[in-house]
Amino acid sequence: MNILTNLWNVVFFAGFVAYLGIRGVHARRTRHLATVHRQVDGLEKVMLPLVISTSLLLPLIYLFTPFLAFADCQPPAFLPWCGLVVMLVALWLFCRSHADLGLNWSVSLEVRKDHRLVRHGVYRLVRHPMYASIFLWCIAQGLLLPNWLAAWSSLATFAPLYFLRTPREERMMCEFFGQEYRDYMDQTGRLFPRLGRKNRLPKDSDKPAAAE
Ligand code: SAH
Repeated sequence: MNILTNLWNVVFFAGFVAYLGIRGVHARRTRHLATVHRQVDGLEKVMLPLVISTSLLLPLIYLFTPFLAFADCQPPAFLPWCGLVVMLVALWLFCRSHADLGLNWSVSLEVRKDHRLVRHGVYRLVRHPMYASIFLWCIAQGLLLPNWLAAWSSLATFAPLYFLRTPREERMMCEFFGQEYRDYMDQTGRLFPRLGRKNRLPKDSDKPAAAE
């Protein structure tokens, strides 16, 4: 079992469990909420299972079976240290964005019954902090695991999902929140904050009481 042969595999697995734990808590909180609009088309039906299997199944197959040995590699010793730093930032941002999005989160593109547009916390600066955290997680996976297939396949599947899904998500949000979302788009970046627009951003005190 690869998990026992390399300390970095143990580090990755600990982060992996934390990542799933954060997602699990929020999935349970939002499970019974009513949805007024759900946008799951062919693209989502193909891409979501692909992303889930490359980010969840392949690392587990690598860690606990010898089946992916053909793809083993030996990255330079400093890479896993970079992976650890990226992983910690990814976990923090994943946790923060879940906390800020609260009951408005869903795994597919959905609008909930009492959906509120979140513009506080990390959403004050960027529109897709959770996707940013998933990108960081995929990079951490790549830097930590010494097996090119288990390491990089989730980045290879998540990147197309992100580029295909984000414009559709923003169109859906514009449909439901109209000018409020268009203003929000004007004031924030997708994955990185927009420099030089700080004065126009809403403050954390704008956080609606019902959003959490
Ligand atoms: N794209 C966001 C959220 C991902 S979860 C991010 O990366 O952080 C996907 C769901 O979140 C979508 O179905 C949408 O309904 C909801 N969502 C996205 N941005 C939102 C916002 N600013 N406020 C409230 N809900 C939002």
